[in-house]
Amino acid sequence: MGIATLNPSYKPMTDPMTEFELIRRYFTRATPGALLGVGDDAALLQACEGNVLAVSTDMLVSGTHFLPDADPFMLGHKTLAVNLSDMAAMGAAPRWATLAIALPEVDEAWLERFSAGFFALADRYGVELVGGDTTRGPLNLCVTIFGEVPERQALRRNGAQIGDEIWVSGTLGNAALALAHLQGQIMLSADEFAACAPALHLPQPRVALGLALRGIASSAIDISDGLLADLGHILEASQVAAQLDFASLPVSPVLRRFMQQTLGRQCALSGGDDYELCFTAPEMHHAGIMSVSERLGLPLTRIGKIVAGRGCIVHDASGNPINVEAGGYDHFR
Ligand code: ADP
Ligand code: MG
Repeated sequence: MGIATLNPSYKPMTDPMTEFELIRRYFTRATPGALLGVGDDAALLQACEGNVLAVSTDMLVSGTHFLPDADPFMLGHKTLAVNLSDMAAMGAAPRWATLAIALPEVDEAWLERFSAGFFALADRYGVELVGGDTTRGPLNLCVTIFGEVPERQALRRNGAQIGDEIWVSGTLGNAALALAHLQGQIMLSADEFAACAPALHLPQPRVALGLALRGIASSAIDISDGLLADLGHILEASQVAAQLDFASLPVSPVLRRFMQQTLGRQCALSGGDDYELCFTAPEMHHAGIMSVSERLGLPLTRIGKIVAGRGCIVHDASGNPINVEAGGYDHFR
């Protein structure tokens, strides 16, 4: 974009390389799946016959979503991963992305690592970077992702039915547990932290699962704000309630150690940033879902069921219901 005339202290990116040189060097790759990629005023994209476009945007702000000194490779990965996760939750096949980036300065070592992390993940999922915007400013990363899905197979939030089983992929709470360690709320051993940190820094979007759930799941969402908050969006959109079995929640061996404590329970139920999928499906698909789990080598766990009403009730290990208020978790008081 052009020079911001509203800000007299704005400096266009001139040294050590021009803005266009920067885009060419770090953010321009072949885009055989697009009619037109980086370099013109807009990209030109064509969805396959019979598919609709699934479009989603996620922004990562320095100081809010990551620390300013975050490892640039992992930041590049995460910037795209959180967007791929939205495609997964929609049952969409990711195809293209744009990247809007504000940089305080041109730091070539940083750009090299950031783009390496971004493209390593993009290559893994066949996603092409077809455009974006580059400007000077406080570090800010914003990706828009475009995917494809047959219109009627998109996994929406509003399809959960009474009697459906509720499932989650992978394990819950590791990202929040790693963050709690970094923030000094708990003390993990080096091995324990090493086991949890990838969930926080290198989340794995469940794209293959999203595709496998087409025609099976009645609703789906990715867990970015915590199980209860995100499942809550499904319940609200579907106008139903949920009963969760606390003992069935899939947690890592490290988190298991903390499950008697409030903090551990909070990580599992309300911890954000795991980017696992939470989905519902009719009971008749139970065996089918277990075989998807086997085929993908990804644990899928039934954690409860959809019932009539509103809200979410969690039963603890001894069968006592714990009431959970809308929008947040009540600290097990
Ligand atoms: P305009 O001024 O027409 O908006 P820009 O100068 O912002 O164009 O960008 C030039 C080209 O580079 C466009 O095709 C744009 O999509 C692309 N682009 C800009 N920044 C990025 C980036 N960070 N990653 C990928 N492509 C980018
Ligand atoms: Mg532009």
